[in-house]
Amino acid sequence: MSLPITAPVAFDAVRATCAAQRDWSRAALAKLQQEAARSADTHLLRVDLPGFPGIAFYFKDEAAHPTGSLKHRLARSLFLYALCNGRLHEGQTVVDASSGSTAISEAWFARLLGLPFVAVMPACTAPRKIADVEALGGTCDLVDDPADVHARAAWHAARGACHLDQFGLAERATDWRGNNNIAESIIEQMAREPDPEPTWIVCGAGTGGTSATIGRYLRYRGLRTRLCVAEPAGSGFVHGWHTRDPQARASRPTLIEGIGRPRVESGFIFDVVDQVIEVDDADSIAAAWRLEELFGRRYGGSSGTNLVACLQLAASMRARGERGSIVSLLCDRGERYEQTLFDRDWLRARGVDPMPARARIAQCMASGNWP
Ligand SMILES: *Cc1c(COP(=O)(O)O)cnc(C)c1O
Repeated sequence: MSLPITAPVAFDAVRATCAAQRDWSRAALAKLQQEAARSADTHLLRVDLPGFPGIAFYFKDEAAHPTGSLKHRLARSLFLYALCNGRLHEGQTVVDASSGSTAISEAWFARLLGLPFVAVMPACTAPRKIADVEALGGTCDLVDDPADVHARAAWHAARGACHLDQFGLAERATDWRGNNNIAESIIEQMAREPDPEPTWIVCGAGTGGTSATIGRYLRYRGLRTRLCVAEPAGSGFVHGWHTRDPQARASRPTLIEGIGRPRVESGFIFDVVDQVIEVDDADSIAAAWRLEELFGRRYGGSSGTNLVACLQLAASMRARGERGSIVSLLCDRGERYEQTLFDRDWLRARGVDPMPARARIAQCMASGNWP
Protein backbone atom coordinates (compact mmCIF):
# COMPACT_ATOMS: atom_id res chain seq x y z
CA MET A 1 0.00 0.00 0.00
CA SER A 2 2.88 2.35 0.63
CA LEU A 3 4.32 2.07 -2.89
CA PRO A 4 2.20 4.68 -4.71
CA ILE A 5 3.11 7.26 -2.03
CA THR A 6 6.83 6.63 -1.55
CA ALA A 7 7.79 6.10 -5.19
CA PRO A 8 7.07 9.69 -6.36
CA VAL A 9 8.66 11.09 -3.19
CA ALA A 10 11.87 9.10 -3.86
CA PHE A 11 11.81 10.26 -7.48
CA ASP A 12 11.51 13.92 -6.42
CA ALA A 13 14.39 13.43 -4.01
CA VAL A 14 16.57 12.06 -6.81
CA ARG A 15 15.57 14.98 -9.02
CA ALA A 16 16.42 17.47 -6.28
CA THR A 17 19.84 15.82 -5.78
CA CYS A 18 20.53 15.98 -9.52
CA ALA A 19 19.56 19.64 -9.62
CA ALA A 20 21.82 20.39 -6.64
CA GLN A 21 24.67 18.56 -8.36
CA ARG A 22 24.15 20.55 -11.54
CA ASP A 23 24.15 23.78 -9.49
CA TRP A 24 27.43 22.82 -7.85
CA SER A 25 28.88 21.77 -11.17
CA ARG A 26 27.87 25.09 -12.75
CA ALA A 27 29.49 27.04 -9.92
CA ALA A 28 32.66 24.92 -10.17
CA LEU A 29 32.86 25.53 -13.91
CA ALA A 30 32.50 29.28 -13.31
CA LYS A 31 35.42 29.14 -10.84
CA LEU A 32 37.64 27.43 -13.41
CA GLN A 33 36.66 29.94 -16.08
CA GLN A 34 37.40 32.83 -13.70
CA GLU A 35 40.82 31.34 -12.95
CA ALA A 36 41.56 31.09 -16.68
CA ALA A 37 40.45 34.70 -17.21
CA ARG A 38 42.79 35.89 -14.41
CA SER A 39 45.75 34.04 -15.92
CA ALA A 40 48.20 35.54 -18.39
CA ASP A 41 49.95 33.62 -21.14
CA THR A 42 53.48 32.36 -20.46
CA HIS A 43 56.49 34.14 -21.99
CA LEU A 44 58.33 32.86 -25.03
CA LEU A 45 61.97 33.73 -24.22
CA ARG A 46 64.42 34.17 -27.09
CA VAL A 47 68.06 33.07 -26.86
CA ASP A 48 70.81 33.65 -29.42
CA LEU A 49 73.91 31.51 -29.01
CA PRO A 50 77.30 32.54 -30.44
CA GLY A 51 77.91 29.13 -32.05
CA PHE A 52 74.64 29.28 -34.01
CA PRO A 53 74.38 32.43 -36.14
CA GLY A 54 71.10 32.38 -38.10
CA ILE A 55 69.44 29.94 -35.71
CA ALA A 56 67.21 31.44 -33.01
CA PHE A 57 66.17 29.47 -29.91
CA TYR A 58 62.91 30.12 -28.08
CA PHE A 59 61.89 28.70 -24.71
CA LYS A 60 58.32 28.86 -23.47
CA ASP A 61 58.44 29.55 -19.75
CA GLU A 62 55.88 27.14 -18.37
CA ALA A 63 57.39 27.54 -14.90
CA ALA A 64 55.65 30.93 -14.79
CA HIS A 65 52.21 29.40 -14.20
CA PRO A 66 50.83 29.93 -10.65
CA THR A 67 51.62 26.29 -9.82
CA GLY A 68 55.09 26.38 -11.37
CA SER A 69 54.88 23.96 -14.30
CA LEU A 70 53.23 23.07 -17.60
CA LYS A 71 50.93 20.82 -15.55
CA HIS A 72 48.88 23.90 -14.66
CA ARG A 73 47.34 23.72 -18.14
CA LEU A 74 46.77 19.99 -17.81
CA ALA A 75 45.22 20.16 -14.34
CA ARG A 76 42.75 22.84 -15.48
CA SER A 77 41.81 20.67 -18.49
CA LEU A 78 41.44 17.49 -16.40
CA PHE A 79 39.12 19.17 -13.88
CA LEU A 80 37.04 20.64 -16.73
CA TYR A 81 36.92 17.25 -18.43
CA ALA A 82 35.78 15.46 -15.26
CA LEU A 83 33.16 18.14 -14.56
CA CYS A 84 31.78 18.21 -18.09
CA ASN A 85 31.62 14.41 -18.16
CA GLY A 86 29.47 14.54 -15.03
CA ARG A 87 31.89 12.52 -12.92
CA LEU A 88 33.00 15.16 -10.41
CA HIS A 89 30.67 16.08 -7.57
CA GLU A 90 30.45 18.30 -4.53
CA GLY A 91 32.50 16.98 -1.61
CA GLN A 92 34.06 14.17 -3.66
CA THR A 93 37.70 13.27 -3.07
CA VAL A 94 39.89 13.74 -6.14
CA VAL A 95 42.83 11.40 -6.78
CA ASP A 96 45.62 11.05 -9.32
CA ALA A 97 48.93 9.26 -9.81
CA SER A 98 51.73 11.79 -10.25
CA SER A 99 55.47 12.19 -10.03
CA GLY A 100 54.78 15.54 -8.44
CA SER A 101 54.23 18.42 -10.87
CA THR A 102 50.72 17.30 -11.78
CA ALA A 103 49.90 16.65 -8.14
CA ILE A 104 50.90 20.20 -7.19
CA SER A 105 48.72 21.70 -9.92
CA GLU A 106 45.81 19.37 -9.17
CA ALA A 107 46.04 20.11 -5.43
CA TRP A 108 45.86 23.80 -6.28
CA PHE A 109 42.73 23.37 -8.43
CA ALA A 110 41.12 21.01 -5.89
CA ARG A 111 41.57 23.70 -3.24
CA LEU A 112 40.04 26.26 -5.62
CA LEU A 113 36.94 24.03 -5.90
CA GLY A 114 36.89 23.07 -2.20
CA LEU A 115 37.54 19.35 -2.81
CA PRO A 116 39.83 16.95 -0.87
CA PHE A 117 42.79 15.75 -2.94
CA VAL A 118 45.01 12.65 -2.73
CA ALA A 119 48.24 12.37 -4.75
CA VAL A 120 49.62 8.87 -5.32
CA MET A 121 53.39 9.32 -5.72
CA PRO A 122 56.54 7.25 -5.78
CA ALA A 123 58.27 7.51 -2.38
CA CYS A 124 61.42 8.74 -4.17
CA THR A 125 59.71 11.95 -5.39
CA ALA A 126 61.63 15.17 -4.59
CA PRO A 127 60.76 16.10 -0.96
CA ARG A 128 60.04 19.66 -2.00
CA LYS A 129 57.20 18.50 -4.27
CA ILE A 130 55.64 16.46 -1.46
CA ALA A 131 55.81 19.50 0.80
CA ASP A 132 54.21 21.66 -1.92
CA VAL A 133 51.23 19.28 -2.29
CA GLU A 134 50.73 19.20 1.47
CA ALA A 135 51.00 22.98 1.72
CA LEU A 136 48.08 23.18 -0.72
CA GLY A 137 45.98 20.96 1.54
CA GLY A 138 46.53 17.74 -0.41
CA THR A 139 47.44 14.33 1.02
CA CYS A 140 50.33 12.26 -0.39
CA ASP A 141 49.94 8.49 -0.61
CA LEU A 142 53.51 7.30 -1.21
CA VAL A 143 54.19 3.93 -2.85
CA ASP A 144 57.61 2.24 -2.87
CA ASP A 145 57.52 0.94 -6.44
CA PRO A 146 56.85 3.68 -9.05
CA ALA A 147 55.17 1.03 -11.23
CA ASP A 148 52.40 0.67 -8.59
CA VAL A 149 51.03 4.22 -8.77
CA HIS A 150 48.34 3.46 -11.37
CA ALA A 151 46.94 0.51 -9.42
CA ARG A 152 46.93 2.53 -6.21
CA ALA A 153 45.03 5.43 -7.86
CA ALA A 154 42.49 2.89 -9.19
CA TRP A 155 42.15 1.55 -5.63
CA HIS A 156 41.12 5.05 -4.43
CA ALA A 157 38.73 5.42 -7.38
CA ALA A 158 37.04 2.11 -6.52
CA ARG A 159 36.28 3.67 -3.12
CA GLY A 160 34.44 6.63 -4.63
CA ALA A 161 37.18 9.11 -5.48
CA CYS A 162 37.16 10.92 -8.83
CA HIS A 163 40.25 9.72 -10.70
CA LEU A 164 41.50 12.65 -12.81
CA ASP A 165 43.68 10.10 -14.64
CA GLN A 166 46.36 12.29 -16.18
CA PHE A 167 48.00 9.32 -17.90
CA GLY A 168 44.75 8.05 -19.40
CA LEU A 169 43.18 11.39 -20.30
CA ALA A 170 45.88 14.07 -20.87
CA GLU A 171 45.88 13.49 -24.59
CA ARG A 172 42.11 13.98 -24.96
CA ALA A 173 41.31 16.49 -22.18
CA THR A 174 43.25 19.24 -24.01
CA ASP A 175 41.52 21.03 -26.89
CA TRP A 176 43.98 20.16 -29.64
CA ARG A 177 42.51 22.49 -32.28
CA GLY A 178 42.98 25.64 -30.20
CA ASN A 179 41.52 27.33 -27.12
CA ASN A 180 45.01 28.70 -26.48
CA ASN A 181 46.54 25.28 -26.01
CA ILE A 182 50.33 25.33 -25.71
CA ALA A 183 50.87 24.81 -29.44
CA GLU A 184 48.50 27.56 -30.52
CA SER A 185 50.10 29.89 -27.99
CA ILE A 186 53.61 29.16 -29.34
CA ILE A 187 52.62 29.68 -32.97
CA GLU A 188 50.84 32.97 -32.12
CA GLN A 189 53.84 34.21 -30.13
CA MET A 190 56.19 33.37 -33.03
CA ALA A 191 54.14 35.40 -35.52
CA ARG A 192 56.45 38.46 -35.66
CA GLU A 193 59.76 36.59 -35.47
CA PRO A 194 62.13 36.38 -38.46
CA ASP A 195 61.41 32.64 -38.80
CA PRO A 196 57.81 32.38 -37.52
CA GLU A 197 57.39 28.78 -38.64
CA PRO A 198 59.80 26.87 -36.39
CA THR A 199 62.02 24.23 -37.98
CA TRP A 200 61.61 22.18 -34.81
CA ILE A 201 59.53 22.13 -31.67
CA VAL A 202 61.10 20.06 -28.88
CA CYS A 203 59.33 18.62 -25.83
CA GLY A 204 59.52 15.59 -23.54
CA ALA A 205 56.93 12.90 -22.84
CA GLY A 206 55.41 12.25 -19.43
CA THR A 207 51.72 11.75 -20.07
CA GLY A 208 52.35 12.41 -23.75
CA GLY A 209 49.74 15.17 -23.64
CA THR A 210 52.08 17.98 -24.68
CA SER A 211 53.60 16.11 -27.62
CA ALA A 212 50.16 14.93 -28.79
CA THR A 213 48.74 18.46 -28.63
CA ILE A 214 51.70 20.01 -30.44
CA GLY A 215 51.93 17.28 -33.10
CA ARG A 216 48.22 17.43 -33.89
CA TYR A 217 48.15 21.21 -33.95
CA LEU A 218 51.08 21.42 -36.38
CA ARG A 219 49.20 19.16 -38.79
CA TYR A 220 45.90 20.94 -38.23
CA ARG A 221 47.53 24.26 -39.15
CA GLY A 222 49.37 22.74 -42.10
CA LEU A 223 52.78 23.80 -40.77
CA ARG A 224 56.07 22.24 -41.90
CA THR A 225 57.46 22.38 -38.34
CA ARG A 226 58.69 19.00 -37.12
CA LEU A 227 58.21 17.66 -33.61
CA CYS A 228 61.13 16.19 -31.69
CA VAL A 229 60.58 14.36 -28.41
CA ALA A 230 63.58 14.66 -26.07
CA GLU A 231 63.69 11.80 -23.61
CA PRO A 232 65.98 10.21 -21.02
CA ALA A 233 68.00 7.47 -22.76
CA GLY A 234 66.24 4.10 -22.80
CA SER A 235 62.80 5.38 -21.67
CA GLY A 236 59.52 3.61 -22.42
CA PHE A 237 58.69 6.28 -25.00
CA VAL A 238 62.04 5.80 -26.77
CA HIS A 239 61.59 2.04 -27.18
CA GLY A 240 57.88 2.32 -27.97
CA TRP A 241 58.42 4.95 -30.67
CA HIS A 242 61.12 2.94 -32.43
CA THR A 243 59.18 -0.32 -32.45
CA ARG A 244 55.61 1.07 -32.25
CA ASP A 245 55.18 -1.46 -29.44
CA PRO A 246 52.60 -0.49 -26.79
CA GLN A 247 54.11 -3.10 -24.44
CA ALA A 248 57.63 -1.60 -24.59
CA ARG A 249 59.39 -1.00 -21.28
CA ALA A 250 62.21 1.36 -20.30
CA SER A 251 65.65 -0.28 -20.35
CA ARG A 252 67.02 2.01 -17.64
CA PRO A 253 65.73 4.27 -14.88
CA THR A 254 66.17 8.05 -14.91
CA LEU A 255 66.70 10.81 -12.37
CA ILE A 256 64.73 13.25 -14.52
CA GLU A 257 61.21 13.73 -13.16
CA GLY A 258 58.14 14.36 -15.31
CA ILE A 259 59.45 12.51 -18.37
CA GLY A 260 61.15 9.16 -19.07
CA ARG A 261 58.21 6.95 -18.13
CA PRO A 262 58.97 3.28 -17.42
CA ARG A 263 56.24 2.13 -19.83
CA VAL A 264 54.28 3.28 -22.88
CA GLU A 265 51.42 5.42 -21.56
CA SER A 266 48.06 5.32 -23.33
CA GLY A 267 48.44 9.00 -24.29
CA PHE A 268 51.61 8.46 -26.34
CA ILE A 269 50.63 9.31 -29.92
CA PHE A 270 53.76 8.10 -31.73
CA ASP A 271 52.60 8.97 -35.24
CA VAL A 272 52.80 12.75 -34.73
CA VAL A 273 56.44 12.58 -33.57
CA ASP A 274 59.11 13.07 -36.27
CA GLN A 275 62.21 12.36 -34.22
CA VAL A 276 63.23 11.14 -30.78
CA ILE A 277 66.50 12.22 -29.17
CA GLU A 278 67.84 10.26 -26.20
CA VAL A 279 69.64 12.29 -23.56
CA ASP A 280 71.78 10.93 -20.72
CA ASP A 281 70.84 12.14 -17.25
CA ALA A 282 74.24 13.81 -16.71
CA ASP A 283 73.70 15.88 -19.89
CA SER A 284 70.15 16.83 -18.82
CA ILE A 285 71.36 17.88 -15.37
CA ALA A 286 74.32 19.87 -16.69
CA ALA A 287 71.96 21.56 -19.17
CA ALA A 288 69.53 22.41 -16.35
CA TRP A 289 72.43 24.12 -14.55
CA ARG A 290 73.28 25.94 -17.76
CA LEU A 291 69.71 27.24 -18.06
CA GLU A 292 70.23 29.07 -14.78
CA GLU A 293 73.16 30.91 -16.34
CA LEU A 294 71.11 31.72 -19.47
CA PHE A 295 67.95 32.93 -17.75
CA GLY A 296 69.04 33.89 -14.24
CA ARG A 297 66.69 31.41 -12.61
CA ARG A 298 66.48 27.68 -12.11
CA TYR A 299 64.48 25.20 -14.15
CA GLY A 300 64.04 21.45 -13.69
CA GLY A 301 65.76 18.47 -15.28
CA SER A 302 63.33 17.97 -18.17
CA SER A 303 64.02 21.55 -19.31
CA GLY A 304 67.68 20.54 -19.45
CA THR A 305 66.78 17.47 -21.53
CA ASN A 306 64.99 19.80 -23.95
CA LEU A 307 68.01 22.12 -24.17
CA VAL A 308 70.37 19.25 -25.06
CA ALA A 309 68.05 18.09 -27.87
CA CYS A 310 67.75 21.68 -29.15
CA LEU A 311 71.54 21.93 -29.33
CA GLN A 312 71.84 18.63 -31.20
CA LEU A 313 69.15 19.63 -33.71
CA ALA A 314 70.76 23.05 -34.17
CA ALA A 315 74.19 21.46 -34.71
CA SER A 316 72.72 19.31 -37.53
CA MET A 317 70.99 22.34 -39.06
CA ARG A 318 74.24 24.30 -38.90
CA ALA A 319 76.20 21.43 -40.48
CA ARG A 320 73.71 21.47 -43.38
CA GLY A 321 73.96 25.25 -43.65
CA GLU A 322 70.31 25.77 -42.60
CA ARG A 323 68.91 28.78 -40.77
CA GLY A 324 65.68 28.95 -38.81
CA SER A 325 64.12 28.74 -35.39
CA ILE A 326 63.83 26.05 -32.73
CA VAL A 327 61.19 26.25 -29.99
CA SER A 328 61.16 24.32 -26.74
CA LEU A 329 59.78 24.44 -23.21
CA LEU A 330 60.98 25.31 -19.74
CA CYS A 331 58.75 22.78 -18.03
CA ASP A 332 58.99 23.52 -14.32
CA ARG A 333 60.74 25.52 -11.60
CA GLY A 334 64.20 24.40 -10.56
CA GLU A 335 63.66 25.21 -6.87
CA ARG A 336 61.84 21.89 -6.66
CA TYR A 337 65.17 20.11 -7.24
CA GLU A 338 67.40 22.08 -4.86
CA GLN A 339 67.91 18.98 -2.70
CA THR A 340 68.34 16.67 -5.71
CA LEU A 341 69.57 17.77 -9.16
CA PHE A 342 71.19 20.95 -7.84
CA ASP A 343 72.86 19.22 -4.88
CA ARG A 344 76.33 17.89 -5.73
CA ASP A 345 76.37 15.46 -2.78
CA TRP A 346 73.05 13.99 -3.84
CA LEU A 347 74.37 13.54 -7.38
CA ARG A 348 77.68 12.06 -6.19
CA ALA A 349 75.78 9.52 -4.07
CA ARG A 350 74.07 8.40 -7.30
CA GLY A 351 77.27 8.26 -9.30
CA VAL A 352 76.46 11.26 -11.47
CA ASP A 353 79.19 13.73 -12.40
CA PRO A 354 77.74 16.50 -14.58
CA MET A 355 81.10 18.30 -15.04
CA PRO A 356 82.16 16.63 -18.35
CA ALA A 357 78.66 17.22 -19.75
CA ARG A 358 78.82 20.82 -18.56
CA ALA A 359 82.00 21.39 -20.58
CA ARG A 360 80.46 19.66 -23.62
CA ILE A 361 77.39 21.90 -23.54
CA ALA A 362 79.41 25.09 -23.08
CA GLN A 363 81.63 24.09 -25.99
CA CYS A 364 78.62 23.35 -28.21
CA MET A 365 77.02 26.71 -27.45
CA ALA A 366 80.25 28.46 -28.38
CA SER A 367 81.22 26.40 -31.47
CA GLY A 368 77.92 25.18 -32.92
CA ASN A 369 79.15 21.56 -32.95
CA TRP A 370 77.76 18.77 -30.81
CA PRO A 371 80.81 16.65 -29.89
C1 LIG B 1 54.69 16.28 -17.22
C2 LIG B 1 55.98 16.89 -17.41
C3 LIG B 1 56.61 16.84 -18.65
C4 LIG B 1 56.01 16.14 -19.86
O1 LIG B 1 54.77 16.65 -20.30
P1 LIG B 1 53.57 15.71 -20.77
O2 LIG B 1 52.62 16.62 -21.41
O3 LIG B 1 52.99 15.07 -19.55
O4 LIG B 1 54.10 14.67 -21.70
C5 LIG B 1 57.86 17.44 -18.74
N1 LIG B 1 58.45 18.04 -17.67
C6 LIG B 1 57.84 18.12 -16.48
C7 LIG B 1 58.53 18.79 -15.35
C8 LIG B 1 56.59 17.55 -16.30
O5 LIG B 1 56.02 17.60 -15.11
